[in-house]
Amino acid sequence: MLEVILRYYKKQLATGYLGSYDLDKHEYADVDWDNLGSGLVQTDYMYIMKSSNDGKFEQGQLSRYGNIELNPAAAVLNYGQAIYEGTKADRKRDGKLLLFRLDQNAIRMKISAERMCMPSLSVDQFIDAVKQTAQANKCWVPPPGKGSLYIRLLLIGSGPILGLAPSPEYTFLVYASPVRNYFKEGSAPLNIFVEEEYDRASRGGAGGVKGSTNYAPASRIITTVLKALTRAKSRGFSDVLYLDSVHNKNLEEVSSCNIFIVKDNVISTPATSGTILSGVTRKSVIEIARDHGYQAEERVIPVDELSEADEVFCTGTAVGVAIVGSISYKGQRMEYKTGAKTVSPQLYSTLVGIQTGQIEEKKGWIMEID
Ligand SMILES: *Cc1c(COP(=O)(O)O)cnc(C)c1O
Repeated sequence: MLEVILRYYKKQLATGYLGSYDLDKHEYADVDWDNLGSGLVQTDYMYIMKSSNDGKFEQGQLSRYGNIELNPAAAVLNYGQAIYEGTKADRKRDGKLLLFRLDQNAIRMKISAERMCMPSLSVDQFIDAVKQTAQANKCWVPPPGKGSLYIRLLLIGSGPILGLAPSPEYTFLVYASPVRNYFKEGSAPLNIFVEEEYDRASRGGAGGVKGSTNYAPASRIITTVLKALTRAKSRGFSDVLYLDSVHNKNLEEVSSCNIFIVKDNVISTPATSGTILSGVTRKSVIEIARDHGYQAEERVIPVDELSEADEVFCTGTAVGVAIVGSISYKGQRMEYKTGAKTVSPQLYSTLVGIQTGQIEEKKGWIMEID
């Protein structure tokens, strides 16, 4: 309580925000909400649950946000046994918090865990952990319209192991950070580079899993996302688009989001056949597009179709729906329609409208908490 009062006065003195946001009803952390970035802002609490030796998760708890201790022989450090999930909490005008399709993330974490030989939490345990983390960090949820509280969930092999085997113990962690609206007014369309040298995922690999090792170079799954992304960024591109590793010909996905192309009334996205991540945003956008009267297809998309597309966009929890201005492939730069008259802003505003409680939805996608 004392902490809350101190924060209240500190804020009042330091920023004079009191007038702009309704601090009588909601309590806010000391953040310059108008200049929120996309980097980590540490919040007050995290949630931790350790498995017992037989791989059961029983009791988790909130604790102050801080470093965690790991045995040098921990499976996650030595063999990269780790998966993650990401979701967001939004603040409604009445101060309630809204969580979006958490069951989807919970189910996906179970599937990822199974593929990575890890025990997993129940859907209810997952949802409860997210709720507790969001509530405990409520003052870090941005005011309506200013952004969201991004919530990251990790499941890591934290037990010590020397020979190659699944970890004897696991730790489940949840932490949160406020993030701005990625798609801020006036944010530039993405310029994407089609990666031909590095593959993201291979057939029979774990590209469809939200595994931490899909980002840094790993062995079994041929992933080189950090390498390819860093290289593309140094050449002025915003992100990388991967092709399938067998034919080097069909679209897969962008580093951490799924891709869609628009041609006339048809919206297409690569089918999830094990090498791409089955995004919750992807799935939701397909449904929203159909509700808007578009035809939505999940299929094989040859890279050649990029030259005929009217519009291209990416989807993910972090970006929402992000429009792509250009894609460069084999030295050729293809440009796409952007602006208010295109399809993606429509889909984006419906998605965000649902997520922030401005559009009433009957799909059961939203969970409201205090
Ligand atoms: C998380 C992620 C996505 C997007 O999934 P969402 O559930 O929509 O956030 C897409 N591709 C990769 C590789 C990812 O890790």
